[in-house]
Amino acid sequence: MSVIPLAGVLGHPVAHSLSPRLHGHWLARYAIPGHYVPLDVAPGDLAAVLAAMPRMGFRGCNVTIPHKQAVLALAAQTTERARRIGAANTLTFLPGGGFVADNTDGYGFAANLVRGAPAFRAFNARALVLGAGGAARAVLDALIEAGVARIALANRTRARADDLAAAFGPRVTATDWDEAGDRLAKADLVVNTTALGMTGQPPLNLPLDGLHAGQTVTDLVYAPLETPLLAAARAAGATVVDGLGMLLDQAAPGFEAWFGRRPEVDDAARAAVLA
Ligand code: NAP
Repeated sequence: MSVIPLAGVLGHPVAHSLSPRLHGHWLARYAIPGHYVPLDVAPGDLAAVLAAMPRMGFRGCNVTIPHKQAVLALAAQTTERARRIGAANTLTFLPGGGFVADNTDGYGFAANLVRGAPAFRAFNARALVLGAGGAARAVLDALIEAGVARIALANRTRARADDLAAAFGPRVTATDWDEAGDRLAKADLVVNTTALGMTGQPPLNLPLDGLHAGQTVTDLVYAPLETPLLAAARAAGATVVDGLGMLLDQAAPGFEAWFGRRPEVDDAARAAVLA
C-alpha cells in the first residue's frame, strides 16, 4: 500500500494562510494524491507536533508566525541561508529522524523580481529597503547574494535598522525613516517590506514624488495587489512588481521536496490563490 504524502503549514493563528490553496492547486494540477493542510499549533506544542508529524505521513511543512525563529533551535540541520536570515519557513523531514530547516523567502523574493522585472540588473545596483522586520532580513540576504552594491535601510524604529545593518555587513546602511523620501529618488530598486499599504493598514507615509522611470519598485504587500506605492511608481513610469509572486515562488522548493515535482509559478497558480 502506498502512503499518501502529506504536508502543511504550522502557524498560530493559521486560518489566514493562502498556502493550502496554492499547494492544493498544484496537487490537483499534477494529479498528485497528496494533501496540504493548515495546522494551528501553539508555541508550547511546536516541538511535540514536529516530532509526531513524520509518523503520520508528513514529508515536511511550512512554518509561519510565530514559529519561524523557534524551529531553528529544533532542527537537525539548517541551511546556510536560514542561518543567515535567522529564521526558517520550509521544513523537510529526514529519513533518519529530525528535519532540515530552510528559508525560501529570499529565494522567492529574488525569483519574483527576475520574472516581474527582467531588465533589472541587481549587480552594482543601489537599493532602498523600507522596513527592518523578518521579511526585510530575507530581502537583504537575497539582494546581497544577487550582488546589489549599496542598500539603504529605512525603518520607523531606527535601532532595528541599525541591528540589521550590523548583521548584514557594510553594503547595508541604516537611515532614518524621515530620509527615505530623499533616498527614494536615488535608488535603482525600491522594496517595501513593511505592512504599510496593506488593506486595513495606513498607506506608506513617505513622499513618493521622487519615483521615476528607470526604477524598479516592488512591494511585499499583496493585498491589494496594486498598493498605493506601486500605483505611484507605475504612474511615474517605473517598473512595478507585486508581492503575490514572492508568495508563490517561496512555496515552490517545498512542494518539490515533499511531492516530487517542481511546480509552475504562472497565471494559473496566481488565479488559484486569488480565487
Ligand atoms: P514584522 O517582522 O512584524 O515587521 C514589520 C515592519 O513594518 C517593521 O519594519 C515595522 O517597523 C514596520 N511597520 C509596521 N507598522 C508601521 C508603521 N505604522 N509605520 C512605519 N513602519 C511600520 O513583519 P514581516 O514578517 O517583516 O512582514 C512585513 C510585511 O511583509 C507584511 O505585510 C507581510 O504580509 C509581508 N510579507 C509578504 C511576503 C510575500 O510573500 N509577499 C512574505 C513575507 C512577508 P518597526 O520596526 O518600527 O515596528
